[in-house]
Amino acid sequence: MAHSAKPKPRRPRTLVTGGAGFVGSHLCDRLIAEGHEVICLDNLLTGSEENIRHLVGHLRFTFLRFDITRADELSALLSKIFSGRGRSSSKRLDYLAHLASPASPKDYLRHPIDTLKAGSFGTYHALELARAQDSVFLVSSSSEIYGDPEMTPQVESYWGHVNPIGPRSVYDEAKRFSEALTMAYHRKHGVEIRIARIFNTYGERMRIDDGRVLPNFMMQALQNKPLTVYGKGIQTRSFCYVSDTVEGLYRLLLSTETGPVNLGNPEEVSILEFAREVIEITGSRSKINFHPLPVDDPRRRRPDISKAVATLNWKPKVGRCEGIERVIPYFKAQVQARAQE
Ligand code: UDP
Repeated sequence: MAHSAKPKPRRPRTLVTGGAGFVGSHLCDRLIAEGHEVICLDNLLTGSEENIRHLVGHLRFTFLRFDITRADELSALLSKIFSGRGRSSSKRLDYLAHLASPASPKDYLRHPIDTLKAGSFGTYHALELARAQDSVFLVSSSSEIYGDPEMTPQVESYWGHVNPIGPRSVYDEAKRFSEALTMAYHRKHGVEIRIARIFNTYGERMRIDDGRVLPNFMMQALQNKPLTVYGKGIQTRSFCYVSDTVEGLYRLLLSTETGPVNLGNPEEVSILEFAREVIEITGSRSKINFHPLPVDDPRRRRPDISKAVATLNWKPKVGRCEGIERVIPYFKAQVQARAQE
């Protein structure tokens, strides 16, 4: 008698745009660890193959160098990926996490048009794909949508205080447009959406030349060079270790939360105090030098994470000092690599 074998449940299949970036590559790691099949798209404008080298060759991982702002070949490309793997299910893509964008101020000021394209054409193409595939769509938005906030901590219901034509607007408005477009696809087409408002995140795989405060301070401190504090250093930030951010992203992806959710560490610190902490924790002999404050540099930033706590049961686990200690070996290796160049 023939047995009617139950079909094996298919593994979730997830596409990550910007998957070779700093946060994107850590998200790919997490998805692989959770049993997903992962398709990583990246045009390597600011991402790096180095970040995903350890995943290349994994049976459930595919990397495609592809620019999501250019969708002309997207569907052909995806049908190529999905064919020939014995897929019978009509649903081919379960989740789409759209992270592609330059993310550090130095990067987006250097690539202003590409940044606007990633958050407009890129988000549009990614949403069209999610709609066609009936996928859950997660967009990585940013605390920058609050601009230079007039209220603190920043809660999701706050509309923000953004200069629409300043140098940072290329990023801020791209992220704001991404959120608006994502909501429109939800309202008009019923796409299942998640909006992550990511606050300052740090960790291994940050580019040492991305201009952000943590890589700058770490590299300077480990070489006993002066730390470059911009302005008087009284502006504040709240730094979240990457494993915590990725945990939040993963939980949000699997949740049913449609509205925006802040993901960040509420431990706030002034930049001057942060410089002193880095010097102390690394045991550096560095001094502190003061440099001009960049235009429209937000004066304070601190997430209200009550929503993430309530809806995702998520809060960061790694404190700032512990996080700084954790990243020392990574930055030490970068200093050594640079010395050998
Ligand atoms: N900053 C600094 N020295 C540096 C790099 C950055 O004082 O070498 C300051 C910057 O002016 C800002 C904060 O650190 O107030 C965080 O900057 P970052 O570029 O990391 O990200 P942002 O939060 O501005 O997007």
